[in-house]
Amino acid sequence: MIPESVLVAMGRAMPDLYEGELIEVANSVRSRLPSLVDTTGQGFIVNGNGHAAWQMATSNTLRAGDKVLVLSSRFADTWGRFTAVSGIEIETLEADPRKPFPPEQLLERLRNDNGTIAAVLCVHVDTASSVRNNIADLRRAIDDAGHDALLMVDCIASLGCEPIFMDSWGVDVLVSACQKGLMVPPGVSFVWANDRALMTHAAITERVGYLDWSLRLEATSFYSYFAGTPPVSHLYGLQEAFSLIDREGGLSAVWARHQILAEATRAAVQAWSSPKGISFNVVDADARSNCVTTVRTGQVDADRLRGRARLEAGLVIGLGLGEEPSIRIAHMGHLNPPTHLGTLATIEAVLYAENAPIGASGIQAATQVIGDALKARTITSGSSG
Ligand SMILES: *Cc1c(COP(=O)(O)O)cnc(C)c1O
Repeated sequence: MIPESVLVAMGRAMPDLYEGELIEVANSVRSRLPSLVDTTGQGFIVNGNGHAAWQMATSNTLRAGDKVLVLSSRFADTWGRFTAVSGIEIETLEADPRKPFPPEQLLERLRNDNGTIAAVLCVHVDTASSVRNNIADLRRAIDDAGHDALLMVDCIASLGCEPIFMDSWGVDVLVSACQKGLMVPPGVSFVWANDRALMTHAAITERVGYLDWSLRLEATSFYSYFAGTPPVSHLYGLQEAFSLIDREGGLSAVWARHQILAEATRAAVQAWSSPKGISFNVVDADARSNCVTTVRTGQVDADRLRGRARLEAGLVIGLGLGEEPSIRIAHMGHLNPPTHLGTLATIEAVLYAENAPIGASGIQAATQVIGDALKARTITSGSSG
């Protein structure tokens, strides 16, 4: 869901493209980039979706013939496939998709590498499985192996939902986009690069002009910083989204709200769980993300559930993206207790309508979590009306 004020901000007439207000808006959005992911590195704005940011990350730091290690997950695998098109060799490390990627496995592989691996690609939160990887632990594995591979992380789902600390985690290149936790319609994405990544970049001779970091850093006009016409409406939308975040109390208040609404979701799923029906996809409770919850449906027909929810109750439930029948409940971005409790209650109503085997009411459990947070004043209704 996109906040009304973001839509209104984006719906304005086009301003002067040469001087004045638009330049100020662009500069204010650019100045926010480092603090979004807690880095002193360089941030770039891409007129394109998350796939474009993936390509900006790899085309600036890798050359044909290089090898990258993909820590397998639905979205990391796709990032790898798009990277392979440029003649980059992909090696995929597989692990249990229901758990965070094990750092020991990365350590083991890198110890046995004779310096051929140029980069490690992984996701922070995989939006298909809803697993949250521990990025600091993966970095430690690279360091413990004494390996100099760049660590590149996809934080597309997690930005604006979960804490991200690019520098202290030791991430070299981080990519994200505006349409998940940042509450702006799709179309703009971001890449951050630290000094190591920029140094690697300087030695890459065959790059992609549109995505080239050097051309953007050398830009003297804001038109060339965006490699052409900037995403004007999106810049206004982002400025408004940042102002909503500020009014809520900053990113830490936004993370706290996500944590509580995610816990409410998990309380509901826990209550619904039954041996033949609903269960969590992610095995370890502390690896369940605060952005989305993937729910296995067992004998409950996931397609029927989604179909009834959509056609008869007006709720779009996320499509399962794994091998097992599942649904995904989003809790990212513009949501608050009334909107999210509405979502959970509607799912429960459809489960009843389907005579699905459910353990107990999830609504009471979810309401309790939110009530406790209200009591402790750890949630604000925020600006998400
Ligand atoms: C949504 C998402 C993507 C893809 O983003 P696009 O804007 O569709 O290219 C990639 N990775 C993750 C983790 C995502 O959640």
